[in-house]
Amino acid sequence: MGGGIAGMAACIHLAKAGLQVLCIEPQADLGQTVGESLDWSAPDLLRVLGLPMDQLIREEIATYKRHVTLKLRDGSSRHYIPGDWLGRPPYNVELKTMHVDRTRLGEAIRNIALAQGVTLAQDRVVAVESAGGRVTAVNTATGRRICSPWFVDASGAGANLFPRTFKLRVHEYGPKKVAMWAYFRVPELIEGTTLYADRGNSGYMQWVWEIPIRADMISVGYVAPGEAIKLKRQQGMTVDGIFKEKLAQYPRFEHLLNAESEISLCVRSFRCRVHGKVSGPNWVVVGEAAAMADPMTANGVTAALRHAAEGSDLIVRARHRRQLPILGRAMYDRRVADVGKFFNCGIETVLYEGPIRDRVGALTAGDVYTVPAWTLNLVYSRLRPKGLVLTLLYGFVLSLFRAGAKLYDRYCRRRETARELCGQS
Ligand SMILES: Cc1cc2nc3c(=O)[nH]c(=O)nc-3n(C[C@H](O)[C@H](O)[C@H](O)COP(=O)(O)OP(=O)(O)OC[C@H]3O[C@@H](n4cnc5c(N)ncnc54)[C@H](O)[C@@H]3O)c2cc1C
Repeated sequence: MGGGIAGMAACIHLAKAGLQVLCIEPQADLGQTVGESLDWSAPDLLRVLGLPMDQLIREEIATYKRHVTLKLRDGSSRHYIPGDWLGRPPYNVELKTMHVDRTRLGEAIRNIALAQGVTLAQDRVVAVESAGGRVTAVNTATGRRICSPWFVDASGAGANLFPRTFKLRVHEYGPKKVAMWAYFRVPELIEGTTLYADRGNSGYMQWVWEIPIRADMISVGYVAPGEAIKLKRQQGMTVDGIFKEKLAQYPRFEHLLNAESEISLCVRSFRCRVHGKVSGPNWVVVGEAAAMADPMTANGVTAALRHAAEGSDLIVRARHRRQLPILGRAMYDRRVADVGKFFNCGIETVLYEGPIRDRVGALTAGDVYTVPAWTLNLVYSRLRPKGLVLTLLYGFVLSLFRAGAKLYDRYCRRRETARELCGQS
């Protein structure tokens, strides 16, 4: 269920292994898809699907991403670049990744799925039938009842089909947020993602992304807490007006705003979260339906592709049995939850919320978040934790970093309170 990047990737893995696959996707076209700046682990996952990085660049589906730049309102900035040492033996890590045009990438992935014999049904799942924890059938908007020995829920964060059916436990991170974005033509290509951040009125960070999805086109998006946007709406501002007001705070966007008479704006609200137990006896949940990482982590596409590969692998291995192995399921659940929690907790505690960021400065907070996040993400790609020992070991290391961030956050909060008390006395 779902023909986004996670669903399509799962279809390809399952079809390649010889299973008969039906993908139910309501949308005929791939408009409004976001998730354009990929982390350093994504290219390899796309290569496995049949989309190597050089082909994606050549066919103008992607541009190179060689660095991330964080810019602040006071004009200061910092480049975050993977260390050269990572590119040398024994690590041999690819030091560049990509920005992607999601519409073109979606088409390319769909074509691969169709070539593998996947059947696409333009329909929407409206009800899930289950018995004893198994999914027995799904019902669609056009009145079809579809039975299968195996089901994959890739319906995204909005639909959450199986998490809602089975009332899965959920951990939420940060406030509800709103993202609004548009596309602008530019004369020159910058091979990197630029983030423009500032502390909003409440002290909670807001930011703007600039992502070159083509040589002559950038995606520009603004992410803010839902409450901040609601307040501006109550003051009578339009969503377009809010977007333009934000961009006007950065000189980089001045001429772009002047050049475009009309902006075609996409808007999405979301809440970052991670579900527990995202697999059952004959089903798995993959992609954003399982866990939604904050966009600033740039880990969403990697997570979706990893879930799809690992969830499909569970099904392929159990194809001649009646159900998925309990240990395999438990380890899949652990990895999805551990990674989702690590990224969400890290970015919220270190960057979005005030205490650590205000104490060390936003640019240094960027280092504090980026170094462990990038390193542990690459370790995942290398280690490919699957069994009991590696899954638990990897999860333990992630939880140490989470605990470290929480402790430092508490320390910074105490120092801040003490400083305020001293100021008062
Ligand atoms: C504002 C924003 C910016 C982001 N930026 C980045 C980024 O820079 N880098 C990055 O890596 N990630 C980013 N992400 C995350 C990334 O976009 C997602 O992780 C990824 O696209 C999720 O893919 P998915 O296939 O799980 O979900 P989706 O792309 O949402 O696909 C779900 C599919 O299911 C279909 N569906 C829905 N309901 C039903 C139903 N009832 N029956 C059948 N099908 C259904 C939908 O039509 C859709 O096609 C961003 C996310 C947001 C919100």
